[in-house]
Amino acid sequence: MTVWDGMIGQPEAIATLQAAARAAAGQDATPGAMTHAWLFTGPPGSGRSVAARAFAAALQCERLDAVGCGECFACTAVAHRAHPDVHSVVPEGLSISVAEMRAIVARSARRPVTGRWQIVVIEDADRLTEQASNALLKAVEEPPERTVFLLCAPSTHPDDVSVTIRSRCRLVTLRTPRAADVAAVLVGEGIDAETAEWAAAAGQGHVGRSRRLARDAAASDRRAEVLTIPARLTTLQACLDAASRLVAAAEAESAALSAELDAGETEALATALGAGGTGRGVAAMARGSAGALKELEKRQKSRATRTQRDSLDRALVDLAAFYRDVLLVLAGADVPAAHPDLADDVIAVSRRLDATGALRCLDAVQACREALELNVKPIIALEALTAALRLPD
Ligand SMILES: [Zn+2]
Repeated sequence: MTVWDGMIGQPEAIATLQAAARAAAGQDATPGAMTHAWLFTGPPGSGRSVAARAFAAALQCERLDAVGCGECFACTAVAHRAHPDVHSVVPEGLSISVAEMRAIVARSARRPVTGRWQIVVIEDADRLTEQASNALLKAVEEPPERTVFLLCAPSTHPDDVSVTIRSRCRLVTLRTPRAADVAAVLVGEGIDAETAEWAAAAGQGHVGRSRRLARDAAASDRRAEVLTIPARLTTLQACLDAASRLVAAAEAESAALSAELDAGETEALATALGAGGTGRGVAAMARGSAGALKELEKRQKSRATRTQRDSLDRALVDLAAFYRDVLLVLAGADVPAAHPDLADDVIAVSRRLDATGALRCLDAVQACREALELNVKPIIALEALTAALRLPD
């Protein structure tokens, strides 16, 4: 099992990265194969951060002839996010702050401890604030000799990474993996063939989502609940009910996840602040800790908003695929459906819409996704959506 096995259905990207890793290890003289800054883009779920980590492992791999053997200490440490010379930046809130970025840039200038490179992986580089982006740009423009920056950003929003940063990076474009490739991976992980095939189709090229659908009953229940909505939107009351149910489900999912994460963090911070100190120090620490707690609460709130938004967006992606299936039925196209298990609902809805109507529904789902990105209140965006999806009498 090499580090490249996790990159599903991406032969071109693998070839590019392997050539770079070989050049970096001095095994290949292809001029310009290796460079200091890379930008991994691709649709959600195509495995941007998986690709970045595979490349990071290959650059640190101890087997210079194999680059990315998947078995040596370096490869294993990167896979477990424990390599001292590979740092990951994963924004938990809505953006990566300038303070965070300055700290990262400062650390990136150090010499590698054990590996050959000092590697910084920035997941969701589209969430850099403008100031953070500028702080990063300086480092990317004049990278320390042994430092490599690996940025990841969704290709659906290419403009979210500044043009100047993009122009300094080598681009690695990932594509949506085919359902057959995803199903094969799930089978390899021990999932039975029928479930794997269903989850691969329902996940629509999003590997992580397919894996969750195959393994987590709550995720597949939630999907089924969302996908029974279109056929039921016959009255305005039904539309309003559906909107509030969607929002409530997203809130519940986000609350469950946040409660778990928040409690652990708050406790860790309290322990860290409470350790040691007497006399005047204690008073100063009390003032300081109030600030730190407030800062933590702010971050946790921002993360909860993000989780809720992500959860709603997943529901909307499922709905969009539903209307695509409706269009396929109306067009009589012989293309595999995204939701074959909901064929009855798809047919019922296709009897009440024509192609123009189905396209209008698809547009409405897309408009709702954009409204949520622009911070429109979820219930308002969802009510506008479900009203637009109401079936004609
Ligand atoms: Zn290795």
